Amino acid sequence: MTPTAVPNSTRIRPRGRFAPSPTGPLHFGSLVAAVGSYLSAKAQGGEWLVRMEDLDPPREMKGAADDILRTLEAYGFEWDGAVMYQSQRRDAYEAALDVLHHQGAIYGCSCTRREIADSSVQGIEGPIYPGTCRSGVSPGRSVRALRVRTDGVSCEFQDRIQGAQRSQLDSEIGDFVVKRADGFYAYQLAVVVDDAEQRITEIVRGADLLASTARQIHLQRLLGASTPAYSHLPAVLTAPGIKLSKQTGAAALSRRDPVSELHRALVFLGQQPPVDLASLSLNEFWPESIARWSEASVPRCAGMIATKESPIP
Ligand code: GLU
Repeated sequence: MTPTAVPNSTRIRPRGRFAPSPTGPLHFGSLVAAVGSYLSAKAQGGEWLVRMEDLDPPREMKGAADDILRTLEAYGFEWDGAVMYQSQRRDAYEAALDVLHHQGAIYGCSCTRREIADSSVQGIEGPIYPGTCRSGVSPGRSVRALRVRTDGVSCEFQDRIQGAQRSQLDSEIGDFVVKRADGFYAYQLAVVVDDAEQRITEIVRGADLLASTARQIHLQRLLGASTPAYSHLPAVLTAPGIKLSKQTGAAALSRRDPVSELHRALVFLGQQPPVDLASLSLNEFWPESIARWSEASVPRCAGMIATKESPIP
């Protein structure tokens, strides 16, 4: 019997994504994540999708989603397929919660923020939920949020940039929220459901999300979704430990001179682009940058301060 050749169609084409939250216009920090994810996918002949993470209306800014897309266009990014909007994905999130519920992986929680703060120890991202409602809410109390159990869960993964990672979810994070008390779905749940739905094979994003990855892998396992490859890029900082964000005064990206901002992003990502790359047209800049992309050159640190000219490691 002759061995069956693997048809081309079964070979998985790399697929990356950029998933901005429309809390304000794009800034240099989000540009770095967009550039890193785009170049990684395109350098492998893969696809790149855009997903608008508009699942937290209290934090969103009116018009920001469209503004972000216009800026991406002005910078010459070309995304594959239609933009996915998390605000339209409630049914998928509810279906995932059903799956988790049937496994006994989640439970209702009646605790208020204050009650949790008063009775918990601090983890790496705020208080570790003390497990008060794990075996049911107290009589007379009603369910506010849904949490996923983390007892005994540890998670190891290899980040392509940041190296080997290990996280003990119960002692570092605790049972975390998948549906919030205000009725909105938690980022951790939505990102896992949508990365699975969009068949994302690699996640390239800022290292401020490195600590979220173990939670996401835990949910992927519970939901039977495959785990993509992870590359966490250094986050753009304004001062040691302070991420560039709307809250820390990040300026909106100007659409006037996209190539020089893109060049700056390449410098930040350790690509050592030649100076004359900054004087190319957008049409010339992208193929050149795709051909030159080297993930191995990205600095292996969680964050760097960006100056106008170059980053300070
Ligand atoms: N929406 C998140 C943000 O803007 C990014 C989520 C992700 O890349 O997983 O920070």
